[in-house]
Amino acid sequence: MNNNAVAVESQKLISETVTQTRISRRPQDYQQISLYKDVNPLDWEDWHWQLEHRIRTKEELAQVIKITSDEEEGIKKASGRLSMAITPYWATLIDPEDPNCPLRRQAVPVVSESIVGPHEMVDPCAEDRDSPAPHLVHRYPDRVLLLATESCAMYCRHCTRRRLVGEQTESNSPTRFDAAIEYIKANRKIRDVLISGGDPFILEDEEIESLIQKLRAISHIEFLRIGTRVPVTLPHRITEKLVNTLKKYAPMWISIHFNHPKEITKRCKIACDMLADSGMPLGSQTVLLKGVNDRPYIMKRLVHELLQIRVRPYYIYQCDPVRGTQHFRTPVAVGINIIEKLRGHTSGYAVPTYVIDGPGGGGKIPVGPNYVLSQAKGKYVLRNYKGKIYTYLE
Ligand SMILES: *Cc1c(COP(=O)(O)O)cnc(C)c1O
Ligand code: SF4
Repeated sequence: MNNNAVAVESQKLISETVTQTRISRRPQDYQQISLYKDVNPLDWEDWHWQLEHRIRTKEELAQVIKITSDEEEGIKKASGRLSMAITPYWATLIDPEDPNCPLRRQAVPVVSESIVGPHEMVDPCAEDRDSPAPHLVHRYPDRVLLLATESCAMYCRHCTRRRLVGEQTESNSPTRFDAAIEYIKANRKIRDVLISGGDPFILEDEEIESLIQKLRAISHIEFLRIGTRVPVTLPHRITEKLVNTLKKYAPMWISIHFNHPKEITKRCKIACDMLADSGMPLGSQTVLLKGVNDRPYIMKRLVHELLQIRVRPYYIYQCDPVRGTQHFRTPVAVGINIIEKLRGHTSGYAVPTYVIDGPGGGGKIPVGPNYVLSQAKGKYVLRNYKGKIYTYLE
């Protein structure tokens, strides 16, 4: 599809969803929102236009949704790092009347964000401590995390990297990854580089390509992956040009941050289709968030819709104990119960791994229902998803 065709498509489909069976989807197309009524579809489809027109103030937001006093105060308090930024596209998906709208809760600051809860930290996963070079985190022997940028299309209120992420005067010097690349070159055990941030797809095509090229030139790097939320918050960014650039560097895997079935719109599907059609395997990463996706039926809907757009559910994260996220955090039992309600009850491909990132730098630790009831001398007593008991003799 060329860009014009995409523009026309997306204009029609902007808030329609893949399956039409659900309730409370904002039925409007963007031109029905007064703030956007005169926007040309080609502008709407242009990712730079979307970025430039992000909602940054309560005055702008008030033209799109009915804001509460809690939100008004929250926006004021969030004015520093991780300030509010909402793409016009995302704004059209928010329920204007419902303060508990899951898309709204992820995008609009509230006062609770300025409260530091018990056990909360600035850098709970000790990424700064495990950083051998600027922009690089090396935790596991064979793979590294490269933080390609500090900016994102939209700032998620639950962001675990809020100590780094936000709109600021980041120096985008072309040499900023040199030390990281030298480190990777010198460590032959590293076979996998995860490019994340911030959101790497916020960079221009040329910057992304130059970084990928340098990593690909290292002979012991077997594959690259990109962690992004752009297909969800700014699907217009996934252009033909970007996709054609990426596919030259296969194998390239993409992990996409999805939290709620409402995020899977027809426009999002177009972006995911373009990536998948170019041969890039897609996975999802989901943060378990109170009031957003902490009910098994919502998570089930999410994983089923992900499979329909060729995204394999990869991880559900327990919400890290990062400062200001207490209002989003659920007990661990909530996550375990979600897995209990998925495993065996639906396609195995639909079941992600629920993990806790070990506070202090332990890495991702899987937690889930216990299916081994006892284990002794060649005998395993197991239970299945229905609770029936089976004995396996070795
Ligand atoms: C999540 C993460 C990785 C990748 O972990 P996988 O389980 O392989 O997806 C690598 N490094 C760091 C620091 C991470 O947080
Ligand atoms: S897209 Fe990721 S890095 Fe950016 S604000 Fe959201 S959670 Fe944080």
